[in-house]
Amino acid sequence: MLELLFLLLPVAAAYGWYMGRRSAAQQQKDQQQQLSEKYVSGLNYLLSDEADKAVDLFIEMIKVDSDTIDTHMALASLFRKRGEVERAIKLHQNILERTSLSQEQHRLAVFELARDFSAVGLLDRAEALYKTIAGKRDIGEKATRELVSIYQSMRDWPSAIQYAERLPADCGMGQQIAQLYCQLGEELPTEKSDQAIKLFKRALRTDPNCVRASIMAGQWYLQREQYQTAIEQLQHVLNQDVNMVSEVIVPLENCYRQLGETSQLQHFLMTAVERGAGASTVISLAELLKQQDLSEDAELLELTQLRRYPSLKGFFHYMDYHLAKAMDQEAKASLVMLQHLVGQQLAVKPKYRCLSCGFAGNVLQWQCPSCKSWGETKPVRGLDGE
Ligand SMILES: [Zn+2]
Repeated sequence: MLELLFLLLPVAAAYGWYMGRRSAAQQQKDQQQQLSEKYVSGLNYLLSDEADKAVDLFIEMIKVDSDTIDTHMALASLFRKRGEVERAIKLHQNILERTSLSQEQHRLAVFELARDFSAVGLLDRAEALYKTIAGKRDIGEKATRELVSIYQSMRDWPSAIQYAERLPADCGMGQQIAQLYCQLGEELPTEKSDQAIKLFKRALRTDPNCVRASIMAGQWYLQREQYQTAIEQLQHVLNQDVNMVSEVIVPLENCYRQLGETSQLQHFLMTAVERGAGASTVISLAELLKQQDLSEDAELLELTQLRRYPSLKGFFHYMDYHLAKAMDQEAKASLVMLQHLVGQQLAVKPKYRCLSCGFAGNVLQWQCPSCKSWGETKPVRGLDGE
């Protein structure tokens, strides 16, 4: 707390000098008398270990004017960072009471006061303030971004989309807006779920690389037994993000089986494997080959891919071939034990990880619960993952 007082001292000195130059002699005398009284009280507070009261008093001593406004703003921001938000709010409100502020200074103070309210969870008050400056010059874009963030935390997706779409097209919000459309579509009540496809398509128009929109559109058609259209949607994922192909294998297998077109499924899986889609894709392709009595081809495929992309998951599955061939009971028992140990290791490894903050878990979360970024959580790759 004491270090804050040092910030105030030069301003207090400047204030004395400023008053000395500008005021009439008597006024100056009165002001200085008042100042010195407050200064003595402040010092008394300090001496009696009441630093909080001393800070409040010193703040009161410094008039808000064009010379001291920057110091007030800096001090308020310092208070907020230290968690003393009540003081920050008081300072910002004090600044806003001044009529001599320029429009730019006024908007900045409103923005900072809104941040104070947001910091203590008074989102409705923050929202109301941000709305007054959203779209205005200077700080308007930042205020709009804060509004998007508030509506997201309130799960008010239509309002989040509305404000996100007001931001300039080149501000990099496309990916997030697409996710918001998907979220809105996913949460539609059952009686309105028929309209969800429009939202998924809207998401794809906003961000053609939105994997989530393709997966959701695919599942929407799959639920309505429109298998061919579902396949078209799900297959987009291969071009959008090869690391996400493992997420569409099960629904794709379902669609192709319904249509009795496993050769086309095989063609898709081969293309995905060639592009390095990961262990799940290799295993699915190997299983498909085994169903056609092509076990040797399946084994060779898994070994080749394991050498190219070593992974515990691939190794675990590959051991099945050796187990099936092991004649010696002792060797077979050792292999079973080894596979069991690898399986235990696999079970404790997280399946997904956020590329932004590293948050890991076993469920695919489209918005990271830790850093709140959208579409950054992917299946883990490398030795411990795909
Ligand atoms: Zn994250």
